[in-house]
Amino acid sequence: AGKDFLARIGGDEFALVIRNYTQPSFLDEVIREIHSRIRQSIRVSDQDLNVSASVGICHFPGDCHESEELLRGAEAAMYHAKRQGGDRSTLFDSEIQMTARSRFALESELRETLRTNGLDVFYQPIMDRAGTQLESAEALVRWQHPQRGWLSPIEFLDVARSAGLMYELGACVLKNVCAHWREARDRNTPLPTISVNLSAEQILVPELPELVKEICGSQGMPVSALQFEVTEDSIQGDFSVIGRVLEQLVHAGAELAIDDFGTGYSSLSRLKSLPFSRIKIDRSFINNLPDDENDCAITLSIIGLARGLGLSVVAEGVESEAHESWLFEKGCDYLQGYRYSKPLPYPEFIKRYFSE
Ligand code: C2E
Ligand code: CA
Ligand code: CA
Repeated sequence: AGKDFLARIGGDEFALVIRNYTQPSFLDEVIREIHSRIRQSIRVSDQDLNVSASVGICHFPGDCHESEELLRGAEAAMYHAKRQGGDRSTLFDSEIQMTARSRFALESELRETLRTNGLDVFYQPIMDRAGTQLESAEALVRWQHPQRGWLSPIEFLDVARSAGLMYELGACVLKNVCAHWREARDRNTPLPTISVNLSAEQILVPELPELVKEICGSQGMPVSALQFEVTEDSIQGDFSVIGRVLEQLVHAGAELAIDDFGTGYSSLSRLKSLPFSRIKIDRSFINNLPDDENDCAITLSIIGLARGLGLSVVAEGVESEAHESWLFEKGCDYLQGYRYSKPLPYPEFIKRYFSE
């Protein structure tokens, strides 16, 4: 219809402006056409690739008053379509507007909090195989929001990710951990190894090892006091960068664990070629031990795989005596879960494990 407009506005995001149409049904037709064209599979070197699109629709001037709002509204509706499973279209409405507003607000609050290093870190103990001695602890990010209280990572990691803040968030977590380490050392209660989660975004930055050394160095902390956890999915990116980054972290003295094992896309060849020393079995497999035969079989084979590759194994999400004794009997090396403790604020963690 005259001056319609198609533009690429981001990695895999496109905007289509349809200016003049008289029949509402015209819009439906266009959208149907977009979906059907995109769904046609594409053949690339003997493989059929199937893609789908999530479409967000926003009306001007019905839903918004200016071009920026129009784009933001369409984007919010598109994210809604994505969250509904993708491959569909969603019309912007007041509910989506509310969600978008609060996401936008959360994003700017998070930016501000990161600027002042305002995030916090809780610690969850990782116990020896009998569940009696503290072996190490996992640092888990928390955000004490002025109005909403303590927020857990599921409530803000998505926002951080879509706002491109994961690298800064990771740096902030590390600064907290190093400051705690220093404080504990100064009080003569040295901490055990602390395990820190690294995001996919962080390990794609070649300067990450330098940043880690710098932050540790600023508190007189050796990098060997740390262990890093990366998920299976996060090592699927550009191997030439990820491989080098992880090698350098290990070279600097840190240990490397593969997190949530069994839930992602696993390439055993990558697992073998990266310097991992530890596997963490995802808690979804531990949950139904020892009653669920499939979960028993999976857990056993992960323990076997770890043995074969010379890696140690941690079970996550250990909640009951039954979990603990089954895992002990099967030779799992370390245990983590609510059976021992929830993640604790630093002062409580110290009080619980380091006062006489
Ligand atoms: P994760 O790395 O798998 O961390 C373990 C999560 O399981 C934690 O949730 C912990 O509180 C929870 N958990 C531990 N034991 C049990 C149990 O016995 N039962 C149950 N039901 N849950 C248990 P949390 O702290 O909410 O963290 C969620 C996820 O957020 C983490 O999963 C990790 O993927 C991510 N995350 C947390 N902190 C950071 C961080 O500093 N950086 C990055 N990149 N990601 C982080
Ligand atoms: Ca983890
Ligand atoms: Ca995990």
